[in-house]
Amino acid sequence: MRLFITKCFEFEMSHRLAGHQGNCANLHGHSYKLQVTLETNTLKRLGMGIDFSDVKKLVQPVLKKYDHVCITSIDNKYTNKPYIQVNPTAEMMAADIMSIIKDELAQYAELATGVRVHKITLWETSTSYVELVNENESWYVTTDSVASVQELIKEEEENETHNK
Ligand SMILES: [Zn+2]
Repeated sequence: MRLFITKCFEFEMSHRLAGHQGNCANLHGHSYKLQVTLETNTLKRLGMGIDFSDVKKLVQPVLKKYDHVCITSIDNKYTNKPYIQVNPTAEMMAADIMSIIKDELAQYAELATGVRVHKITLWETSTSYVELVNENESWYVTTDSVASVQELIKEEEENETHNK
């Protein structure tokens, strides 16, 4: 048997995807739905793996980073908040969210007894979502080929000059 504990969150964010050939290159927004699934092998005294309110605590830094922000470029001049170095796609955001929650769990050692992140599910629209499962680190190898936002914006600017 395996026990999974999931809590859902919602946040609003605007972004654009540098280098995209379609509408995603334009500034636009989404109402994201985030499902954080933890796995535990230890039930504590009250019969809980982890209190849902503690899951909320673990996810606060994610919401602080992504809720009501506009992630458009590397300087992120609209928010002055930390940004991610790659395009803010659902895939890259899910990876970032996974790593934030892993860090939080490490900090709350007491809550985290026997608890690990199992899966991050991130809905970008009501019909599109990604799931990132914490199974092995090999997925991260492929991120070596992911371009930085800096690179993509530079390419966009070059193409613009080219087309003038
Ligand atoms: Zn989008």
